[in-house]
Amino acid sequence: MKPLLGGKGANLAEMCRIGLPVPPGFTITTEVCTYYYANKRTYPSSLRGQMEAGIASIEQQTGKRFGDLKNPLLVSVRSGARDSMPGMMDTILNLGLNDQTVEALATKTSNPRFAWDCYRRFVQMYGDVVLGVQKRPEEDHEPFETVIEGLKHERYHQDVEDTKLSVADLKELVARFKKLVKERAGKQFPDSPWDQLLGAVGAVFGSWMNDRAIVYRRKYNIPTEWGTAVNVQAMVYGNTGDQSGSGVAFTRNPANGVKEFYGEFLINAQGEDVVAGVRTPEPVAELKKAMPKAYGELERIRQTLEKHFKDVQDFEFTIEDGVVYMLQTRNGKRTAMAALKFSIDMFKEKLIDWKTAVMRNPADQLEQLLAPVFDPGEVAKAKAIATGLPAGPGAASGQIYLNAERAVAASEKGEKVLLVRVETSPEDLRGMIAAEGILTARGGVSSHAALVARQMGKVCVCGAAAIEVDYNSRTVRVDGRTFKEGDWMSIDGTAGKVYAGQVKTAPSEIVAGLIDGNEAAKKTEKFKHFQQLMQWCSDATRMSVRTNADTPDQTENAVAFGAVGIGLCRTEHMFFEGDRIDAMREMILAETEDARKAALAKLLPYQREDFAGIFRALKGYPATIRFLDPPLHEFLPHTKQQQEELAKKIGVTGARIHQRVEQLHEFNPMLGFRGCRLGIGYPEISAMQARAVFEAAAEVQKEGIKVRPEIMIPLVGFKKELDLQIEVVHQAARDVEKEKGVKLNYMVGTMIEIPRGALTADEIAQSAEFFSFGTNDLTQTGLGMSRDDSGSFLPQYQELEIVTKNPFATIDATGVGQLVEIAVTKGRAARKNLKLGICGEHGGDPSSIQFFEKVGLDYVSCSPYRVPVARLAAAQAALRVKVGD
Ligand code: PEP
Ligand code: MG
Repeated sequence: MKPLLGGKGANLAEMCRIGLPVPPGFTITTEVCTYYYANKRTYPSSLRGQMEAGIASIEQQTGKRFGDLKNPLLVSVRSGARDSMPGMMDTILNLGLNDQTVEALATKTSNPRFAWDCYRRFVQMYGDVVLGVQKRPEEDHEPFETVIEGLKHERYHQDVEDTKLSVADLKELVARFKKLVKERAGKQFPDSPWDQLLGAVGAVFGSWMNDRAIVYRRKYNIPTEWGTAVNVQAMVYGNTGDQSGSGVAFTRNPANGVKEFYGEFLINAQGEDVVAGVRTPEPVAELKKAMPKAYGELERIRQTLEKHFKDVQDFEFTIEDGVVYMLQTRNGKRTAMAALKFSIDMFKEKLIDWKTAVMRNPADQLEQLLAPVFDPGEVAKAKAIATGLPAGPGAASGQIYLNAERAVAASEKGEKVLLVRVETSPEDLRGMIAAEGILTARGGVSSHAALVARQMGKVCVCGAAAIEVDYNSRTVRVDGRTFKEGDWMSIDGTAGKVYAGQVKTAPSEIVAGLIDGNEAAKKTEKFKHFQQLMQWCSDATRMSVRTNADTPDQTENAVAFGAVGIGLCRTEHMFFEGDRIDAMREMILAETEDARKAALAKLLPYQREDFAGIFRALKGYPATIRFLDPPLHEFLPHTKQQQEELAKKIGVTGARIHQRVEQLHEFNPMLGFRGCRLGIGYPEISAMQARAVFEAAAEVQKEGIKVRPEIMIPLVGFKKELDLQIEVVHQAARDVEKEKGVKLNYMVGTMIEIPRGALTADEIAQSAEFFSFGTNDLTQTGLGMSRDDSGSFLPQYQELEIVTKNPFATIDATGVGQLVEIAVTKGRAARKNLKLGICGEHGGDPSSIQFFEKVGLDYVSCSPYRVPVARLAAAQAALRVKVGD
């Protein structure tokens, strides 16, 4: 039902079905939204009649009437997309009020304060959402809030709580709000409930296309075509007095995963007050004292929800005069840490099976678990300058900025940014994406901002009341000190603490346990849960996960994370260390084969030593070693001074070096003398690399460690290119076998990274024992789009939805993907047991991994710290799709 009714509508219907208390209402489907946009923002002709029937049904169930002067029905109008988009679209409450119905409501409830509070809220929300009276770029506060503050100061000379406002105050606010609407929107506030309702429905549909909803959809890949539904429901009131209230709760703690009733509420308030973060709410446990009966009912609902939906729920409720109503439920957004604990705990509680548990951990969030925490020693020394609510776990240090635009600008300059706000609103989304962490003075852990921060894996501390944020002077005052924009602060989103300056971070327990072998870390629940998840991944997976590593250290880390081999060792990276570059440069500058061989002889021991280290770290796992690939001029000195220094070192003139650099210049180096073209031009380079691999293999083999080198020739487009290089490799192997008296066990294969290689894969597979897809170059050459220069136009391409995702991060399945599929089919047809892998950056990207599962690759390879993500994504892909689907 979700595609039609939206998430909120479908779950409201579901809650009705299982007997939970839901106020009566109806849902306008997403199809109407689609119609609305396809037909110049108009409605299907049958809509009005159906809405009238819907309202009549609510009237009948509640005994109230829409626009009635005795017992008026008020409704809420809320958006509800298929996937929840917290806070991104609009909501209107208390609809149906005007100067007459407000009096009727006051009389009927004998509560004029309540009636006028509803009216003031309605004019404010409707004015904002439907009539567009919103903060202007030069304003830091919402205009309606500015009017409220003005009145409070005029009448009370201080910032009193909203609940302290009298009937007369509220009446005055309504009058001032309407005046503000007239001034800013240029029209009168609508009186007729039906005009109000139609306007509200249009505004909700309109909000599907607002800036923040678009940004959110782009980030989470929600298709524009889905549209939103609109839910119209009878109002229930959390603002009738002290036995009423509104709250937001989770069936378990969404920050750390603990099984506890978690959430917050405000007495005598409507739901928007809680999520907007305007007043700081109370923890839900306090409700036990304030309204024990309602609390008991909520506890029962909490259990029912989990049993029914079999996942942690995030729900909104209202208590009206002691009676609980459910306004919404959805699967709760959660941090990676909470997702892990939920999945393992719910498996143990037999609510879900292990495969579901694997699927419950979002692969692209898993990296959060490996994120650093503050170094405990440093934290012990540091003094917290403020405390707030722990809304998004982890540790973050950054330079503070007080608005989203400036935070984005600073992060674009390369600064680490901490976004500090009084309260965050959904407009801050861009700033939150740019920031390392978010700190707010007001608002609770379930404010929309906190939800979004958690989902993005941002560190977040909310409601740190001691900080005074001054938008005008762009300063933060706290603990007797003043911080300016650009000053450093640190926040601990797990403990809810704020520190001055930069606090050093330490690795997470998982990294400490796996990489550093820290025993205490290994005993933590987080570590054990992580290991359990990884074990399940191994059970579920078809593809294996290798790593892209060029040093023994990187290799060791990757193996600790569960990599079962190297999928790509970029040998050229080994030439950048220490003074190896000099020998490399000497080799490039050599004018004769002999001179080149002499320089290569200097490089050989370095390579041999590195390979031996890598083989040892691999403990018998295979290593795909790629021969020299980049254009040679990348290694050369480009400034005059560097050229002079090198000239002195290798005993030639500066002019000679300069001349050679000029000679090697290429107009399009990525398509020039690189890849296997180097080894074909200078076979002695490949011969040296092959010898280094085999000598190292011989050495490590003698130590009793199994060694499985897989030599990989880059940028092959013609079978003959590969054949020429294979011969060089076999010759080196024969030589080393003879010299060292060993038998070497190795393979030779190729990268498939240019379209011709993919299209002629059947020919190439006659010689290649394996293929590894170099999807970085395959994307570059397949799209004809430079991997180094696309940054200047790709963002616009994404904005215009020419591409939905960056094709260098997520494989372009429809285009480049076809090249991969062709190569797989043709390659396997020519050589049945051809081993197939991928080593471009896409090897660590969850949605690309799903594509590689479908086409039936044997393994993916990615950077060491992405290995857990890739293992999880590969397991999920195996559970989700079948090869050949
Ligand atoms: C590739 O092209 O995908 C690849 C892995 O090689 P490199 O990034 O080194 O060009
Ligand atoms: Mg490449």
